[in-house]
Amino acid sequence: MPGGHAAAGARPHVARSPTSTTMKKLLQAPNLALATLWADQLRAAGIATSVQRAYASSIAGEIPPDQALPEVWVDEDADQARAAALLAEWRRRPERRWACPRCHEIVEGPFELCWNCGAPEPP
Ligand SMILES: [Zn+2]
Repeated sequence: MPGGHAAAGARPHVARSPTSTTMKKLLQAPNLALATLWADQLRAAGIATSVQRAYASSIAGEIPPDQALPEVWVDEDADQARAAALLAEWRRRPERRWACPRCHEIVEGPFELCWNCGAPEPP
């Protein structure tokens, strides 16, 4: 028997797990808030994603959850290229967060107009 991989074909089919063959790791995020934001934006763009914790299985439980860097995964590896391109575009953009000079609403995200009153972003 060549190699030692006789059991490889016997693995049960597990959907929606990081070890699934169609899920693909997209990137590691510096914090959970950002990972969640990117995952949400990708979902809004029609790409199924999930956020996974990045600890290695051998040390899981030994490091606090907030020190485990989150990862964004795409559910289908066919979506990875498109998701990566979208993320590259978003990451090039400076993060927007500005206060509307007219109505004082805090506007966050890729908006150049106040969503409350329609005033343009100040220079
Ligand atoms: Zn406004």
